[in-house]
Amino acid sequence: MNFLDLGVTSDLVKGLKEIGIVSPSAIQQKAIPVLLENTSDMVARAQTGTGKTAAFGIPLLSHINPKIPNVQALVLAPTRELCQQIAKQFFKFTKYSDKIYVEAVYGGEKIDRQLTRLKRTTHVIVATPGRLIDLADRGIIDLAKIRFLVLDEADEMLSMGFKKELTTILEKTTSQKSTWLFSATLPKTLQEIIKRYVQPNATHITIDKGSVVNRKITHQYVQAEEIAKTDILTYFLKSRKNDRGLIFTRTKDAARKLHKVLLAKGYPVGLLEGDMHQKDRDKVMRAFLGKKVNLLISTDVAARGIDVQNLAFVLHFQLPDQIDYYTHRSGRTARGGKEGLSLALVSKEEFKFLRAIENELKIRFSQIR
Ligand code: AMP
Repeated sequence: MNFLDLGVTSDLVKGLKEIGIVSPSAIQQKAIPVLLENTSDMVARAQTGTGKTAAFGIPLLSHINPKIPNVQALVLAPTRELCQQIAKQFFKFTKYSDKIYVEAVYGGEKIDRQLTRLKRTTHVIVATPGRLIDLADRGIIDLAKIRFLVLDEADEMLSMGFKKELTTILEKTTSQKSTWLFSATLPKTLQEIIKRYVQPNATHITIDKGSVVNRKITHQYVQAEEIAKTDILTYFLKSRKNDRGLIFTRTKDAARKLHKVLLAKGYPVGLLEGDMHQKDRDKVMRAFLGKKVNLLISTDVAARGIDVQNLAFVLHFQLPDQIDYYTHRSGRTARGGKEGLSLALVSKEEFKFLRAIENELKIRFSQIR
């Protein structure tokens, strides 16, 4: 099956193909035909890595009328990085289509700059909930005119404390709109929101964890006690001199410590962790994307949503504390049909969790000695 079979126009198919999206993933097969028809709301259980951005993005962009210069659709996402990534993906999808203008707006950046950008024609806004409310209060966005509302990573938005903002947005947008909700989990508060704001005849779909888009990732591990991990890491980095990679830690402390150690050893490496100011995070991301540094150390939260392509490897200095995070982490390598390595340094304590990851995600780690 291909995207044309799902009803996607050939110019969008061309845009998808250019970024390596050729055969639809499970969620794309299920969601795209329904959302293109747009006769019901949607509640989809799916996580990052399943191809959900295209699953809602392609139908959404198909429904936008480029001739109407108003904001017609709103995508809400929990973090600025994810907003930027979604906007960037939409831009790529529409490379060969009529121009659809997408803006990402989020907290942490000066609102003036975003206000200036929004003065230009904008069809779709991708926003964090707080910043969106801010813009609506200033009269920049007329929520009543929104025809499509997508909630991406709805559970994350709730756990980040955006419940009030979300309900305000759901209230202030017209009941005539289409609401498409994507979430990895459906906690109780989210179920309440669904009951109240999503049409009762909504289409429900669930994508299991094994359905992450098939990438050519090799999963390996090295058994290493905490104290030996830095040496093993530097040994590995020496063998991968010109490769770009992400190094993950579970804690901010470990990330900071490791960053210091690697800098002291002379490795140009960036650090990304949740306590950093947006300005500094942007600077690090620019250096990494601009290939000024080849290595980036990050915690799970700080890395969420960042879309860095063509990474040769992802190294797990510590395993994450949630299985989903392993998917997020390793999904950063082997993009667009390329091969990639996901290497875990695993202490005795972590070993059990490695097996749990294997079972849950139906993957196999091979041991490197
Ligand atoms: P997402 O779950 O939307 O964050 O997508 C994760 C990654 O998979 C992105 O880098 C997409 O470009 C890529 N991707 C999405 N759909 C497909 C597909 N059908 N085939 C291959 N890669 C895909």
